[in-house]
Amino acid sequence: MFSKPTVEGMRRLSIFSMHKHGVLEAGQSGNWLWQDADTREETGRIGYFCDGHSLRLKYRSRDWGCEWESIEETILLSKTYPNYGGVRNWFICPSCHKRRGVLYGGKYFRCRECYGACYQTQLEDTKSRALTKIYRRRHKLGEYGGLGEPFPQKPKWMRWATYNRLYEVDARENESLCQMEWVWLGKLRRKS
Ligand SMILES: [Zn+2]
Repeated sequence: MFSKPTVEGMRRLSIFSMHKHGVLEAGQSGNWLWQDADTREETGRIGYFCDGHSLRLKYRSRDWGCEWESIEETILLSKTYPNYGGVRNWFICPSCHKRRGVLYGGKYFRCRECYGACYQTQLEDTKSRALTKIYRRRHKLGEYGGLGEPFPQKPKWMRWATYNRLYEVDARENESLCQMEWVWLGKLRRKS
């Protein structure tokens, strides 16, 4: 059975569509939703509150194999007045403090440049946590080989039911681990 990687996909916040939906007015609050493009199913949501100068975001996030965490983050807003008239809204990226039209999350919302920079480290952390779990399970079965090795034989003392369960979890987590890298990279690339 295949289970989706539990690493969150990149969520995209666009200042243009938020503006279009009236989110950037002082006193606006609600939920911003993401949908699956095909099924229209909700794939995520964050709560927001706007005071006209900043956007407060409230949501939950979960790292691979960890508990859900509540996160509150404030994104400053900025306006510019182009020569041709009108007004343009911007997010201020909380990491590099530059004006950005789009932010991505992840655990936090940052511009693509900042995500690119810290994403590799995050991914490495997540991967090494995942690997530790897999190794630990295999070591219990008396196996000290690498991940490329087949799943260890059943020790005589272990019940088949237990062994089969461990085998399934191992297969699933290996699969997720392989997926993790290309899912994230694919999503970053698609938005470029
Ligand atoms: Zn940034």
